[in-house]
Amino acid sequence: MRLQDKTAVVTGAASGLGLEIARAYLREGAKVALADLNGAAADAAAKQLDPTGKRAIGIAMDVTSEEQVDAGIDRAAKELGGIDILVSNAGIQIVAPIEEFDYAKWKLLMAVHVDGAFLTTRAALRHMYKQGRGGSIILMGSAHSKTASLLKSPYVTAKHALIGFGKSIAKEGAKHGVRCNVICPGFVRTPLVEKQIPEQAQALGITEDEVIKKVMLKDTVDGEFTTLEDVAETALFFAEFKTNALTGQSLLVSHGWVME
Ligand code: NAD
Repeated sequence: MRLQDKTAVVTGAASGLGLEIARAYLREGAKVALADLNGAAADAAAKQLDPTGKRAIGIAMDVTSEEQVDAGIDRAAKELGGIDILVSNAGIQIVAPIEEFDYAKWKLLMAVHVDGAFLTTRAALRHMYKQGRGGSIILMGSAHSKTASLLKSPYVTAKHALIGFGKSIAKEGAKHGVRCNVICPGFVRTPLVEKQIPEQAQALGITEDEVIKKVMLKDTVDGEFTTLEDVAETALFFAEFKTNALTGQSLLVSHGWVME
């Protein structure tokens, strides 16, 4: 059990990467709050992962709402017995060329990724600092924290911003034993990505197969998608690491799509 007696909040945990990370954390002994905009789906996922209801809870939370984040994180701390790990993972994708990008959609995407990371981190840090037992903040970046692709300007901007925010958390958190690291996955076949395949095919005037082979996986070393398990394993590694030696970092898990 790699996370025995730890407590974790995972946002965007009703689907995709967040759900897989919650599953892995529970398997390794943690108690987990699954927070999501879709509260019913978060509740259902928590019940499915832990039918006893003792180690997993669902929390309805819009990460762009200061009120909902503060209330949801407080509830998680109360019901689970504090907060040792935060995975700020909730995210959306909207694709369009810059000259056509709708301003409201730009602001929504920035709010979910950047404001959401800030609000959930701030609320979690308040508990971690008060508890005095350290902690691990994990931000879900992307290969797009390090590179750009066509049609994804706000996503690329927001994911780059998370690296700067993560370094700031690492600097300030150190004296409290709180570490912060950013996971930067390549393409994983979650609902977020499945939706993009037809959208990009249409926007770029190519087939869906070409989107996968010539856009998404073109620069990987082996033409493979990154898997849910690959990302969950990285989230376990960052969560369980014991000292400030590993903080302020961002790790690419992308089949070599981006190397640095
Ligand atoms: P997903 O669509 O499967 O899951 C995202 C979850 O976030 C959903 O359950 C959704 O309800 C929730 N969510 C959306 N807006 C929210 C809000 N305002 N408040 C709370 N929850 C909200 O997507 P995914 O692929 O699992 O993506 C998870 C994270 O991983 C995102 O930050 C995404 O940018 C990042 N990421 C994904 C990939 C990939 O290829 N799938 C690659 C790199 C990074």
